[in-house]
Parts: sequence; C-alpha cells; structure tokens
Amino acid sequence: MSTTSRKMKFYNLRDLDKIPQILRLPKDLIFQMKVVSNILPFRANNYVIEDLINWDNIPNDPIFQLTFMQPKMLDPHHFNTMAETLISNATEKEINQVANKIRLELNPHPSGQLSSNVPSINDEPVEGVQHKYKQTCLVFPSQGQTCFSYCTFCFRWPQFIGIKELKFATEKTKKFISYIKEHKEITDILITGGDPMIMNAKTLSAYIDPFLEPEFEHIKNIRIGTKALTYWPYRFTTDKDHEEILKLFEKVSTAKKQLAFMSHINHWKETAHPEVEKAIKNIKSTGAQIRTQTPLLKHINNSPEVWIKMWNEQTRLGMIPYYMFVERDTGPKAYFEVPLVEAFDIYQNAYKNVSGLARTARGPSMSADPGKVVVDGITEINGEKVFVLSFLQAREPDHSKKPFFAKYDEKATWLNHLKPAFGQEKFFFEK
Ligand SMILES: *Cc1c(COP(=O)(O)O)cnc(C)c1O
Ligand code: SF4
Repeated sequence: MSTTSRKMKFYNLRDLDKIPQILRLPKDLIFQMKVVSNILPFRANNYVIEDLINWDNIPNDPIFQLTFMQPKMLDPHHFNTMAETLISNATEKEINQVANKIRLELNPHPSGQLSSNVPSINDEPVEGVQHKYKQTCLVFPSQGQTCFSYCTFCFRWPQFIGIKELKFATEKTKKFISYIKEHKEITDILITGGDPMIMNAKTLSAYIDPFLEPEFEHIKNIRIGTKALTYWPYRFTTDKDHEEILKLFEKVSTAKKQLAFMSHINHWKETAHPEVEKAIKNIKSTGAQIRTQTPLLKHINNSPEVWIKMWNEQTRLGMIPYYMFVERDTGPKAYFEVPLVEAFDIYQNAYKNVSGLARTARGPSMSADPGKVVVDGITEINGEKVFVLSFLQAREPDHSKKPFFAKYDEKATWLNHLKPAFGQEKFFFEK
C-alpha cells in the first residue's frame, strides 16, 4: 500500500492567474478562458493540473480541453457580450447578471430532466431523486453536488453555479428513502451528483447503509457514478478516510449486493497513472465491480484509436466498458458535438478492433426524453439510406429494443434532428 498522501488543492476562476502552467500561456488566451469561465463553471485540482495535462501540447491536450474552458465553447454573440462586460470593469453583481442571462439560453436542463423524472408521494415531489426507468432510481445527495474538477462539456453544469432554481438535490428528511422502500420494482440505486465521492465516508454511508437493511431486499445493486478514480485516485489509496470508504464498499458485498462503481473516463491518458492502478486494485478488492462510461467528444476522444486504446486498457485493468454516450444538447454542445454518422463509425471501428472482452460498451447512445436511444447501424432498405435505432432504456418499458428507422442525415447530432424513414410521419414512440 502506498504511504505518501497528497493534499488536494482546488483552483477556480479567481485562482486562474495563480496556476504557474497557465501563466506561461498567451495573455489573450487567458483572457478568453476567463470570459468563458464566468459563464460555465471552472474548477481544477492539483493532480489534474500537475499529473494529467501535458503542458507541452496546449491547446490540443485532451485533458486540457476537458478541464479548461476554451474560447469557442461559447457562441460568438455570448462570448462578446461577456468579454465586453469584463472589459468595461463591471461589478461582480453586473457580471453575474449577464452570466445568468446567458446561462438560461444554454438549455440548462435538457430532456425534461427537471419536470418529468421527479417522482412524488401524495402529490408532493420527492426532492433529489429521478426515477425515469423502472429498475433504477437516481439519487443526488445534497452534499455531493460538486466535483474534483469540472469537465468543460458537463451537462450537470447548472448544479455548480449559484442559480437555486437550477439545482437538484436531496433534502434533510431524506423522503426519497421511503419512496424507494415502497417501490419494489426498483433494483438499482444510482448515487450520482456532481460526484458522490466528494463526500466523506461517513456522509456517503448515510446514503448506502439504509439500503442494506432487510426492508430493502429489492435493492440488488448500489451504483456510484463518479470521476474520482481518475480525477483524484488518492480517494481510494491515501486519503484520511480511504480505508473507511473501502470498508463501506465491502459492506455492500457482504450484504450480498453489488457495489457497482460507475467510473466516468474520457481518455486512456486518465488510467495511465500508477496511483489509478493502485486505486483500481483497492476498489476491486472490496468485491466491487468497476464499469466505465464515456461521452464521445470532439477535441477529446473523437477517433477510433483513442477508443481502442481506452477500452483495451480498461479491460486489462479489470474494468468493464459500459456506455458510449453522445454529447447532450446543453451548454457548450456545439463545441463538442460529433454527428451521429461519425459517432457510429467511431464505435464500429473501435469495436471491430478489440477483443470480445472489451466489446461490452453499448452505444453510441443518446439520453433523450423518451429514453436512451442507440444507433444500432446505418444501412439501406429498399433503396433508402437509414439509421437503425432502438431504445436501450425507455420511459415506456415496452419500447425497449424495438428497432425503428430514421432517414439518413449526415449532419444530425441528436435525436430531435432525425426524421422517420419510409415516409412515416412520426416515430412509433411519438404516437
Ligand atoms: C442512464 C440512466 C439510468 C441507468 O440506465 P442503465 O442502462 O441501467 O445504466 C437511469 N436513469 C436515468 C435517468 C438515466 O439517464
Ligand atoms: S465529474 Fe461528472 S458531474 Fe462532475 S463535471 Fe465531470 S462530468 Fe460533470
């Protein structure tokens, strides 16, 4: 076991000028980064800055793109509005007003997230959970709504800025626990955020322990959605409470349930670090299973070679590739989006070049309002070029895995761009 611990240090917008690696960049780039970071949230920690980013490859380094705001992440109109505000020496309050106005124009809650997925007890909403798919209930602990670093593309960005109406988290009485107790169809709890691993062991256990009790026999899997493994691996190796964390995971296995560690990873560079290998060993030694999920992003991982190496490495390290996601329709989507045609091509090219053990990731998948829609293929039927699609998860459970067809469209990047094929007026799920 490793003995040297590392102290975490966060950098946010105000500290941008204090990061030595940033100070070496051109002044106008630093200003542009500030313009964008006044609207979309910026945070990075010392491990990401010192160990993950290759500062000799700026701006192309994928982890730099993943962590530091780039000028083109805003459209020119929004960018100029904020740039002028900053140049005019506006007060902090004025800057915030301009920022909030722009934020609301960036589709802060895509796919009806706030309205349609929140369950209720006696017509009262159950705060901080989403129950969209029968078997799985998402829990957003109020103490876990921040992260070890913020990803520039993240669809959860409204969670990190100060607009209260855009936030989403559990409340004190934890009403969600009674909701889950009554809903026996739920087999999986997915603790998410933000990043639940930002919580200390004691706080996290308050979200796990109740489900190990006999009245929660229907809960078989407890998932933790996190990026800690690659943004702060010390969480599982040397942090003060790391042994408590590992014991908590072990307790889940002992209760004959699976602790499913859902690790968000964007690039193979993130696992190429000795501390991450140690963390993986420790997590797996508790009986937990590690699965990985990755959004496909321009400027970060839009080539089959990156996916081949990433899936191969993950598999070698004993992790199970689980999802390839299409970038959601929110925030800086235009900067990161990859057309569905290209997304499928990258998926297929990576898939055919890895062993069966690494062919476990489903995708490319869009988390849209009616469900998770996967592009199964592109083909020609009766002379018409089409996308073959299906639901991996559907709000309406019967819709799962029913194939459907959309007109081929080279530019489409999301479900709402697609038109039904074969002269149909609507997709079957729209009736
Ligand atoms: C993706 C997702 C899940 C989990 O789906 P799985 O296919 O079981 O991993 C659950 N709820 C919501 C709202 C989701 O978007
Ligand atoms: S770690 Fe996850 S929730 Fe946090 S910023 Fe990155 S993608 Fe978003």
